[in-house]
Amino acid sequence: MPQYQNIVILTGAGISAESGLATFRSSNGLWNNHPVEDVATVEGFQRNPAYVHAFYNELKQELVKAQPNPAHLALTRLQNEYPARISIVTQNVDTLHEKAGSRNIYHIHGQINQAVCQNCGQILETFGDVDTETVCPHCQIMGMMKPNIVFFGENLLCMDEVDRLLRTCDLFLSVGTSGVVFPAAAFVQIAKLNGAETVEFNLEPTSNNYYFDRHIFGKAGSTLPAFIDDLITNR
Ligand code: NAD
Repeated sequence: MPQYQNIVILTGAGISAESGLATFRSSNGLWNNHPVEDVATVEGFQRNPAYVHAFYNELKQELVKAQPNPAHLALTRLQNEYPARISIVTQNVDTLHEKAGSRNIYHIHGQINQAVCQNCGQILETFGDVDTETVCPHCQIMGMMKPNIVFFGENLLCMDEVDRLLRTCDLFLSVGTSGVVFPAAAFVQIAKLNGAETVEFNLEPTSNNYYFDRHIFGKAGSTLPAFIDDLITNR
């Protein structure tokens, strides 16, 4: 019987930093030249959908070129070599976990390669441009597609399933997330209070970190593969 049966890994922008993608709060962050209230709120999208689509179309071109780094690949190795249910809950809108070959991925903040029809709910998967003239492939209505990115003021995606996973996991890892964006910042608390062992991987101490049993400081591309190697060896 392996040491753990149900592992949840929460990932944030920091896991993709070594793939060349800026984190939210770094000085060259993706959002730096665009006020969050314009490109990441429901009101901003209602005010100027063309501007918001253009922003995400541009971001898509940057994210589509990025490649997974050793931290993403280590999680795939864990899923392939450790006999437990292993789920990845990501705040990232990039698709680097998918590119790394991982599965059981929950994109709670949405994903860059999707748009959702506000009329019928159909998801359109594309790395191509989406704009105010895009026609929904399901209901055929034009101008109702919205980037499938969770804006401030919207509910997170997949939360029923994620909540269930957090309450039943016995190991919770948090990788490259600042711990200031809620509700993801409270996931460690749910996992810990339900009996999980909790480990944080970050460059530095973060906020809201009292519920972690261990903190492993350093670049996730080095620290996570070493930790996972150990987990697989000693299972
Ligand atoms: P954040 O930018 O607030 O925090 C990133 C954290 O990662 C920081 O605590 C930083 O110290 C740490 N970090 C940076 N490089 C690291 C490395 N090499 N190894 C380990 N840790 C490292 O990101 P967040 O907490 O995910 O919240 C910001 C929101 O912005 C997210 O919810 C996400 O939706 C969005 N975002 C997504 C992407 C992406 O999809 N790649 C990129 C930027 C922002």
